[in-house]
Amino acid sequence: MSFVIGLKCRECGGEYPTGLRAGCEECFAPLEVVYDYEGISRSLSRETIQSREKNMWRFRELLPIEEDPQVGLATGGTPLIRADRLARIFGAKNLYIKNDSVNAPTLSFKDRVTAVAINKAREFGLEAVGCASTGNLANSVAANAALAQLPAYILIPENLEQSKVTATSIYGSRVIRIRGNYDDVNRLCTEIADRFPWGFVNVNLRPFYGEGSKTFGHEIAEQLGWRAPDAVVVPMAGGSLISKIHKALKEFERLGLLEGEVRTRVYGAQASGCNPIVDAVKRGSNDIRPVKPNTIAKSLAIGNPADGYHAADIIARSGGWAEDVTDQEIVAGIRLLAETEGIFTETAGGVTVAVTRKLFDQGRIRPEDLTVLAITGNGLKTQEAVQLEPPVVIEPRFGQFEQAISEQWAVA
Ligand SMILES: *Cc1c(COP(=O)(O)O)cnc(C)c1O
Ligand SMILES: [Zn+2]
Repeated sequence: MSFVIGLKCRECGGEYPTGLRAGCEECFAPLEVVYDYEGISRSLSRETIQSREKNMWRFRELLPIEEDPQVGLATGGTPLIRADRLARIFGAKNLYIKNDSVNAPTLSFKDRVTAVAINKAREFGLEAVGCASTGNLANSVAANAALAQLPAYILIPENLEQSKVTATSIYGSRVIRIRGNYDDVNRLCTEIADRFPWGFVNVNLRPFYGEGSKTFGHEIAEQLGWRAPDAVVVPMAGGSLISKIHKALKEFERLGLLEGEVRTRVYGAQASGCNPIVDAVKRGSNDIRPVKPNTIAKSLAIGNPADGYHAADIIARSGGWAEDVTDQEIVAGIRLLAETEGIFTETAGGVTVAVTRKLFDQGRIRPEDLTVLAITGNGLKTQEAVQLEPPVVIEPRFGQFEQAISEQWAVA
């Protein structure tokens, strides 16, 4: 059983029963899951949460599944670490990293959204699942569909990184590369979802999918000792994660689980080569002008973001801001995080680190602000992005070793 009442349109308030649905029939806006928060507050306490296993299902009353989860049992419960070495470089005093680059089973935050969507597909008795993906979602849907023993139709842009293609195909999923960008892929998936009785996790299962992202925010608050941060910096593709983190904190506040109120400013991060949400925020508008993506941050390369309007709105209303960074700055961000905190993140993480640096430089985030960086994916999947000098090669002789270290690092 769950506390879900139904689905509701974010724009016009139109209500729908729980089911497969891509958006509002009247105004085409995204749908939100509506919960009975009264009921939830009677059954969910800090103690209940803490008595459960360290995975995303600790917050299951706040997730839209009816039955016990069958997939995603190892998902969530990722580390929140203090990042003092990185903080020193930013001139920050209170910096944390929420590290979903080590999420299970496929090393990105997408495992959270997929876990909810695939469980929901099982509950709906669907014959097959699928997705339009910029890479990480493809990996995660493929793995979880294998676990659920459902065929998975996975559509990706033709130019995806090799690691992300391999880490999708390996699970026996039905992968199709599309000559076009993500927005072309997504349009095709919408058409397929109309013709076949399948669940596309980010199309007709999207209202449920998005809810999985909330657990990223729930965990941050719990790991900070039931407090909401002052600032959180989040990479944006479709714009879902950033608004769901904010929703998660507000839910905890409403349920009386937090010390103090939620005054969290949410900051959005994109690549300069695909920055439609940042552009809207800077214009002081919620209206997204679609762009054609051109960036190494392929996991964020959505030119026409489904939740862009909502993301821009929540950024502004929370008192936050949004910034974008060049491909060069992204690579520098990846290297900086690796060299200071020992975390190898993918391009999206490089975007987050580089944008955070900008926000501190601009004084938009202050040194004493309790700030959390959302690190959402793993660097092993986007190795093409960081072109490093190959290490020196020598014969297995001591003399050559001595010569090499003196030449390379001036070690006498
Ligand atoms: C998908 C993705 C995001 C952003 O997700 P949205 O909810 O679509 O904004 C961020 N980081 C990584 C690594 C992703 O794969
Ligand atoms: Zn509507």
